[in-house]
Parts: sequence; structure tokens; C-alpha cells
Amino acid sequence: MAVELKDLLCDIHTHTIASGHAYGTIRENVQAGAERGLKLVGTSEHGPNIPGSCHPIYYSCANRIPREMFGVEVITGVEANLNDDGTIDIPDMLLGFLDYAIVGIHGFGYKNHGEEENTDLVIKAMGIDKVHFVAHPDTDKYPLNYERLVKAAIENRCALEMNTSSLRKPQERPGCYDNYRRMLAECVKQGCYIIVNTDAHDPSEVGRFEKAVELLNEVDFPKELILNCDLDKLKELIDYKFDRIMGF
Ligand SMILES: [Zn+2]
Ligand SMILES: [Zn+2]
Repeated sequence: MAVELKDLLCDIHTHTIASGHAYGTIRENVQAGAERGLKLVGTSEHGPNIPGSCHPIYYSCANRIPREMFGVEVITGVEANLNDDGTIDIPDMLLGFLDYAIVGIHGFGYKNHGEEENTDLVIKAMGIDKVHFVAHPDTDKYPLNYERLVKAAIENRCALEMNTSSLRKPQERPGCYDNYRRMLAECVKQGCYIIVNTDAHDPSEVGRFEKAVELLNEVDFPKELILNCDLDKLKELIDYKFDRIMGF
């Protein structure tokens, strides 16, 4: 059965002004999500390696963010940067304040190590507690071995992201369409969850999944492997707990 926009109930990769180069507040993002029919929004500021992103103390106070706004559930995470040694730019102590971490390769603190070593380093980061998602694993700039990545995602209770910002700007993510086709085929073969996220840097982008829906239907991807379609499965994957640790 075809995937429809209304089947995708959450967007857990979104940025606010706290990331330094995004332009809405949490409330504006969540409200935009509510208007597009989302039931859950996750906020995931960049890790501190990205110039202008928040100070580490920001993450430690995430428990101040309401669990519900505009009738939409809110979860709080981070898009951590993968370092050249497979660590991330958020220490375990800070991860403890958050519901989840997405690990992503960016041009800060990371250079391309080639397909196999990039894959090894992402896999190493998947082993970190709270890391349950891999952001935009889609560009020829940082190639990945999808057979090994998917196997490791299953073993480490991670879901691989389909990032609609990449799909909307493929010139900035060379090869992303073909790479997603390969990744999705491997996810079907091995039974790995994906998560569709917009990576919104402005409220106008939250929940805009059109490009992802087109691609998912092109390859006949099964709904059962899309975490956005089942919020209980999403919460189970991240070991969600309503009460969060108090920060400052
Ligand atoms: Zn990113
Ligand atoms: Zn992002």
C-alpha cells in the first residue's frame, strides 16, 4: 500500500534559532507541525562543533521544554557531530538530559575517510547510548557501505534517516537519490527501520515530507519499516521516558 503524507506522524530532526543558523523558535516549529497534522515533533539542535550552535549548558536544561505544545507531543534530542575517531561532540553526561541523539557527518571535525572507514566510524557512534538515528546518510561526499550500515543499525537499535532537506537540494548532497535507493533496498532486505525527517531550519519546512513520500512509493517501501508511522515503536526504540533529568 502506498505511503501517504498523513501516515507520517512525526518529524524528529528540526532546528531552532538555538542552532545559530535556523530561524524559528521551538513553539513556531511545533505549531507548524500541528498545522501539518503531526502528532509528535522532536527538536534536535546541532552539537557544539557547528559554529554558532548552542553552548553545552543548553542541552542540560532540556527538561524545561514542555512535553506538549499545540496538542503535539515534544521530544528533545540533539544532532551530534561525528568526530574523526567515531566519538561525538556531546559527552555522555549531557546525553543523559536528552531523549535521543542523531549522529551526523558534517564538515566540522570530520574529513572523508572513504567508504569503509566512514562506515566503521558511524557504526562506532551507533554504539553510544542515546544514539538511535543516523542523519542524512546520503551523500557521495561521505560514502557509506549500506550493507554494513544497515546490519549495524539493526544490531544497535538505530533507524536510518531519509532527509527531505537533502532530497529538496540534491545539488548539495551529490548522489543522494541513488544512495537512498540503495539504502532503502538494503533496509527492506535486512528489515531495518527508517525515519523520515525534514531537518527543518525554518518552521515553513517542518513536516514537509513530499519528496520522501515520492521516493518511498517509487521503491514500494513497506510502511511497517517507517518509524514515523508508529509512534509507539519510535518510543520503544529510544527507550522513551516521560520524566527527564533536571538540569540547572
Ligand atoms: Zn545535519
Ligand atoms: Zn540537521
